[in-house]
Amino acid sequence: MNRKILVTSALPYANGSIHLGHLVEYIQTDIWVRFQKMQGNECTYVCADDTHGTPIMLRAEKEGITPEALISRVWQEHYDDFAAFHVGFDHYGSTNSSETRDFACSIYGKLQDAGLIEVRSIDQYYDPVKEMFLPDRFIKGECPKCGAKDQYGDNCEVCGAAYTPSELKHPYSAVSGAAPEMRSSMHYFFRLSDPRCSDFLREWTKSGSLQAEAANKMQEWLGGELSDWDISRDAPYFGFEIPGAPGKYFYVWLDAPVGYMGSFLTLCEERGLDFEEYWKQGSETELYHFIGKDILYFHALFWPAMLEHAGYRTPTRLFAHGFLTVNGEKMSKSRGTFITARSYVDHVGNTEWLRYYFASKLNGSMEDIDLSLEDFVAKVNSDLVGKYVNIASRCAGFITKRFDGRLGKSDRLAEIGFGEWAAGNFVREAYEARDTSRAIREIMRLADVANQYVNDMKPWDLAKQEGMEERLHEVCSTAINLFRILSLYLKPVLPALVAAVEEFLRIEPLTWADFETELPAGHVIQPYQHLMTRLDPKKVEAMVEANRESLKPAQAHSPARHAESQVHHQGLLETVSIDDFMKIDLRVAKIVSAEAVEGAEKLLKLTLDLGVCTRTVFAGIKSAYRPEDLVGRLTVMVANLAPRKMRFGESQGMVLAAGDGNGIFLLKPDEGASPGMRIK
Ligand SMILES: [Zn+2]
Repeated sequence: MNRKILVTSALPYANGSIHLGHLVEYIQTDIWVRFQKMQGNECTYVCADDTHGTPIMLRAEKEGITPEALISRVWQEHYDDFAAFHVGFDHYGSTNSSETRDFACSIYGKLQDAGLIEVRSIDQYYDPVKEMFLPDRFIKGECPKCGAKDQYGDNCEVCGAAYTPSELKHPYSAVSGAAPEMRSSMHYFFRLSDPRCSDFLREWTKSGSLQAEAANKMQEWLGGELSDWDISRDAPYFGFEIPGAPGKYFYVWLDAPVGYMGSFLTLCEERGLDFEEYWKQGSETELYHFIGKDILYFHALFWPAMLEHAGYRTPTRLFAHGFLTVNGEKMSKSRGTFITARSYVDHVGNTEWLRYYFASKLNGSMEDIDLSLEDFVAKVNSDLVGKYVNIASRCAGFITKRFDGRLGKSDRLAEIGFGEWAAGNFVREAYEARDTSRAIREIMRLADVANQYVNDMKPWDLAKQEGMEERLHEVCSTAINLFRILSLYLKPVLPALVAAVEEFLRIEPLTWADFETELPAGHVIQPYQHLMTRLDPKKVEAMVEANRESLKPAQAHSPARHAESQVHHQGLLETVSIDDFMKIDLRVAKIVSAEAVEGAEKLLKLTLDLGVCTRTVFAGIKSAYRPEDLVGRLTVMVANLAPRKMRFGESQGMVLAAGDGNGIFLLKPDEGASPGMRIK
């Protein structure tokens, strides 16, 4: 009987790019889903962008665009990155959807009916300039323990101390720089401390829904009394307004997991699936959430308790994984190991190399995994090129040249040491348990057996011997059959490569049951063409270099980053070479016109004369300058910055200004400089 399985990955936040750390999860999930589909199970994989909250609201504002414009741009970037890595979602949605809103409101209503929502007043820092309550991460000040300056409101990056924002000395708002005031506000709480919640969670933890490590963590949390969960935020906030509570919004973490349901409902409508069958209490379908260990608290406590008391089924199991380290260390921007998905695609190219490497490391536990860049190159070249693809490349040519592409009789696979693994169970069990590292080890053992067979039979010698034509035909046909089975086993990990193999072998898409069959004598294959090239370590070096450098141009690029840097980066940046500096074409520019931009709080539209041409630039300097005071003066601009589309038009460069939260100071050359002069 086929299983009905719904699978999710955690929703990426619409405030940044996908990086290799994120991809550990999506690749792991995708491999498992592809494996289930090959088994013939009805497995569905949904995800969505997580789009709400203060960081999204502020970033959109800094960029001078609406939050909707920001999240739709980021959605496309995320979608393209996932597609490049062959992450095959059945549906990729957004939490900013009517489906997710409806579920969030109805779940909230049911929790309210059950008496599990409580309203009470809390004290919180308020930014009087920006007129908003400040999340902890947007309050900075001096660490109460060690006195380090510019520390965030929740913990000190210097001494590691944890504290509440009210303990910070000389606090200031990271948004406006103003000193915050303590104000009180009514907040909505989900009463997790209610015995109905903790009793339920104790039972749920015992039901086998968690990995052993996660269950231990839960015991720890459930050992003490659970705190109620603050699920509301005050306006201004980008999110869903709470029904019956004007000016109060659902905290982004309330509607993020609800996004799994919203995204799945959209798919149900597209495909005619039965939503109720999957989500009703007592459902016989399976529901799995793949998550990072850092969000276990949200998924193992809040989420099942919400579902249970709103009348829905709870997850069958959570699959938590560890973090990614690179070369044995935390990913780091200065070392160039904070690698974005896009830069991998641009510099390394073949995304299945990384899928294979991650698969060879993941074992279904919560341990961190390491991407050793040297090992990555070695493993791809020795396993995929040296062992796997090599089998086809050594034998297919004879089939084409000597036998018109027609296969002959094959040796019995069981007799050449292939039978034991060819039964498929070792590999299948490892995949099912998400222990892909074990699956890969088994598959590579099988590849060794296949290569040993080819080495022993020496088709290249048989080809030169009189009267050995038939044996040559058998050996090469056997090797092609071995290659087919290896391809089948690798298909969840290497979907694009195996699709090319299926074309080369002229066969239907491989399913798991195909390991019991072989290609018969007379079957015709295509001429062999290169399936995979070797990974050149220089590509990996170039990727690391690019990520090391990408910091500064990216920062200079957007007004958002620019404003952030006024607040966050008071120390000096790392050294760059003179060559890097010379890539920036700085020019004296004359401001020939300046005007306010309708709908943009911070921007002025400047027309700049560069002597040989004019440029239009949107600059975030409106708070400091009146447009009429700027006309006619000289300033400095970056003339070779890639143009950037904004809601109001294209910005074709950037003017230079200093700023530290106390003002913005536009640069001006000394008397005598003229428009277009290069600055160096
Ligand atoms: Zn400290």
